[in-house]
Amino acid sequence: MTTQAKPEGATASGGSSSFLSVRDLSVRFSTEDGVVRAVDNLSFELEAGTTLGIVGESGSGKSVTNLAILGLHNPVNTEITGSIKLQGQELVGATNRELEKLRGHTMSMIFQDPLTALSPFHTIGKQIGETFQKHTGASKSEARDRAIEMLTKVGIPQPKTRVDNYPHQFSGGMRQRAMIAMSLVCNPALVIADEPTTALDVTVQAQILDLLKDLQQEMGTAIILITHDLGVVARTAQNVMVMYAGRAVERGTVREVLKKPQHPYTWGLLSSMPSLSGPVDVPLTPVRGTPPSLINLPTGCPFNPRCDHMEQVVGGKCTSERPPLSPQGGHATACHLSSGQKQDIFIDQIQPRLG
Ligand code: ADP
Ligand code: MG
Repeated sequence: MTTQAKPEGATASGGSSSFLSVRDLSVRFSTEDGVVRAVDNLSFELEAGTTLGIVGESGSGKSVTNLAILGLHNPVNTEITGSIKLQGQELVGATNRELEKLRGHTMSMIFQDPLTALSPFHTIGKQIGETFQKHTGASKSEARDRAIEMLTKVGIPQPKTRVDNYPHQFSGGMRQRAMIAMSLVCNPALVIADEPTTALDVTVQAQILDLLKDLQQEMGTAIILITHDLGVVARTAQNVMVMYAGRAVERGTVREVLKKPQHPYTWGLLSSMPSLSGPVDVPLTPVRGTPPSLINLPTGCPFNPRCDHMEQVVGGKCTSERPPLSPQGGHATACHLSSGQKQDIFIDQIQPRLG
C-alpha cells in the first residue's frame, strides 16, 4: 500500500497547493456587551494571480476577515484562531515584525477612502516613494522615479508634475488611482481591496475596476475584492464567497454563483440589485429583516429569521442545526434545503425576477 503525503497547502478539493489558504478562521472581540463572533470558522482559498470577490451586507465580517490576514487587529481585545497561510507562511500568531515586513511588500491594501490612508501633509510622490524605500532600500531619487512610474501606470496625467501634488489637489478618482499606485509600488503578490470604489461615481468606479484588472494581468497580483455589490464581482472576479454573520454561506466561481445561486441569502442579494442585463422595471426586493446579533446568534442556521423557505425543510432543522458549507470544493452552500429543492425554487421563483 502506498500512502501519498499531501503537499503543503493542498486544497480540500485535492487541487494544487494554494497561494492563500484560510482554514477555520475565527475572530472574536471581547466587548462590554459580550463576545462578538465577527468571523466564525471561515475557510477559503485564493489562487495566485486570481480575484476572489467577498460579498455580504454591512457587518457580515468582510473587513474583519481581511484585517486578520493583514495582521491589523488590536491584540488586546481580539482572539484569532485557525490558520491563514500566505505562500506557505503562517500568519496567525506571526510577530509584528514579520507582519510589518510582509505589509506593503508581499501584501497590501486598498482602502475605500484614500483620504484615510494618505497623509494630507505629504506629497503623493513622497508617500508612494516612502513605501518603496522602506522595503527596497532604494535612494530618494530612485523612489521618486518609481513613484512617477507608478503614477504613469495608474493613468495619472502629467505624472512628473503631479508627483509633487498633495492629496487635496487630486480628484476622488485620481486619489484612488494614487492609492492603487501606492499599494502596488512593491509589486505585492496579494492586494486586498476593501470596497475600493464605493465612494466613487459609477463611471469612475468602472474605470478603477478596469485599471485594477489590467494591472493584475500585468503584474500577476492576486486580489481579494471586498464589496457589497454583486455587479462589481461580476465585472472583476473569477471566484466569489458570500458571507453572512461571519460565515461563508455560498462559494464558487462567479459564473456558478451569479447564474445559478443556491442559497436563500444570495437569492435575496441578487434580487435586491438592479439587473445587469434584465428588465429595468422589475421592483427591487431587498432581503427582509436585519442581520442577527453577533453576540447572540440564532440557533441553527443564522439566516433562519429572514428565510422564506424554512417550511420546506423537514424536522425543523433550520432552527436547530447549523448547516455546514458543502461540498468542500466547487460550488458550495450552507443550507438545509436539498439540491433538488434549491434548483426548483431558483427556477420557479428567483430566476424570473433576475432577468
Ligand atoms: P463588513 O462586512 O461590513 O466589513 P466588519 O467585518 O467590519 O463588517 O464587521 C463585522 C462585525 O464585527 C460587525 O458587527 C462589527 O460591528 C464587528 N466589529 C468589527 N470590529 C470590531 C471591534 N474592534 N470590536 C468589536 N466589534 C467589532
Ligand atoms: Mg467593511
